[in-house]
Amino acid sequence: MTTVFNDATRFADDMLSGFTRLHADLVEKVHGGVVRATETAPGKVAVVIGGGSGHYPAFAGWVGPGLADGAVCGDVFASPSTQQIESVARAAENGGGVLFSYGNYAGDVLNFDLAQDRLRAAGVPAHSIPVTDDVTSAPADDAGRRRGTAGDLVVFKIAGAAAEAGYDLDAVTEVARRANARTVSFGIAFAGCTLPGADGPLFTVPEGRMGVGMGVHGEPGIAEQDVLPSAELASMLVEKLLAERPADHDGRVIALLNGLGGTKYEELFVLWNDVAGLLGKADLQVVAPEVGELITSLDMAGCSLTLTWLDEELERFWTAPATTPAFRRGHTETGAHRQRRVVEESGPAGFAEAAPESRAAAAGLLALAERADVALEAAVDDLGHLDAIAGDGDHGRGMSAGMTAALTALRAAVEAGAGVSSALGHAGDAWGERAGGTSGALWGTGLRAVADRLSDTTAPGAQDVAAAVRAGLDHVLGFGKAHVGDKTLIDALAPFADALDARVAAGDGLRDAWSAAAVVADEAARATAELTPRIGRARPLAERSVGHPDPGAVSLALILGVDL
Ligand code: ADP
Ligand code: MG
Repeated sequence: MTTVFNDATRFADDMLSGFTRLHADLVEKVHGGVVRATETAPGKVAVVIGGGSGHYPAFAGWVGPGLADGAVCGDVFASPSTQQIESVARAAENGGGVLFSYGNYAGDVLNFDLAQDRLRAAGVPAHSIPVTDDVTSAPADDAGRRRGTAGDLVVFKIAGAAAEAGYDLDAVTEVARRANARTVSFGIAFAGCTLPGADGPLFTVPEGRMGVGMGVHGEPGIAEQDVLPSAELASMLVEKLLAERPADHDGRVIALLNGLGGTKYEELFVLWNDVAGLLGKADLQVVAPEVGELITSLDMAGCSLTLTWLDEELERFWTAPATTPAFRRGHTETGAHRQRRVVEESGPAGFAEAAPESRAAAAGLLALAERADVALEAAVDDLGHLDAIAGDGDHGRGMSAGMTAALTALRAAVEAGAGVSSALGHAGDAWGERAGGTSGALWGTGLRAVADRLSDTTAPGAQDVAAAVRAGLDHVLGFGKAHVGDKTLIDALAPFADALDARVAAGDGLRDAWSAAAVVADEAARATAELTPRIGRARPLAERSVGHPDPGAVSLALILGVDL
């Protein structure tokens, strides 16, 4: 259980406030996460890490001299938004460009890539290394699809030390790439975890059983079996990783034994005793191992083993000093407390002059959004459970948070006299900013695309709305790169757009055409139950989702089905 909180929706933010208050000598809270509170050398590459919250010490615990310059902190188990990533990167950047590194999850990739594009467009060089260490999430010959877990620490630490040593952006990126390529992890879970405020655990593992290869958000593993005694568990973990031993390794490895949050240090020490013995028997020399909580999943019980096949340079950077709230090694100069770097915000732009017809349409949209917000709020747990079947369980919370933020922005825009195009665009930006995750990035930028097809000077007619919906669909197809049939929200949105076009072409008014198309979307969303997911969060057991509809399609149909 997550027992201590005030408002569950503000859990991640409240947690970060307490954390930065405690570690004010090392970290400073900025919009979207934390950055170092101390000076860095001008021209140093900024290593910016991040992901969802709920994994402490990942990610904020690793910011400080010798390690990361900033950590982006999304909502619990949800990728941060593009805006959060951009904000932390700008606050951390100090003339040497930015290396982003994060666990390889679809929502993180989408948002970090977009933030990277925006930085580059603004003249800040940026590269990304998503971490792909989890051997159970994809085969070795398709390692680019693997998820990132405790191997994050190795890649971040080595990149951080290389940046501290004065390597330039290309060189830091190359070292991080190599550290990632030579790092593998394998994990198991004994019990599920409960999101703050949720009515029950995100997933469960039967008593006495363990989920083999389960992800850090409870993504299904490769098998379930009886819990093993420590010695047998150790051989299972070690053997799986040794099977991927590269031909050229010199026998020196980093080993991390990670606790997921609900497994005690004492248990980890028992297991480490067995693991270390087996590594010794395999003629491996372990360099600066770590045993403890490195990447947790709230109160999930379980553990994972990580190995990194070292070379001279990787070893030097792994063993270099670092001083962060959760990882300390040797002695670093922490540097002077730095002047707060002011990051330019493009403040709230006024809204363009709008015609009364368009303002009236914006007011209509506001009423619609109010009803959609209520409907989503009521569906949070159902959507979360649906997402937990093959994904990570954050979809309900993400959608509800995004819609509430959009509603607040829409209300402010309507009060300020905005027309329907500006008001909806503003709402989309607010959605993307707040929601994170894959769906947050798609809904946020998708609504912006819809808005851009509308006007502040005329009332949108049925044809305009149909064309705007199509513009939204085209944007989502281009941005998310999914196709019809991949089991995503596109499988409800595309039939909706087609039906809307057809009804409008047949002469229906907007209200009738929309209602008819919403019925089509609802049926299409239900029909996604038959499909197998082909994109989205790494889904080693995607067939588990067969028989259940896609959460993103269901939430889309729910919103489209709200009475106009
Ligand atoms: P995340 O997968 O990052 O946790 P959410 O759980 O909020 O994000 O959203 C998951 C939904 O996003 C899926 O059910 C699917 O409908 C949609 N989705 C995922 N990837 C894509 C994509 N590439 N294009 C369109 N929709 C997608
Ligand atoms: Mg999800």
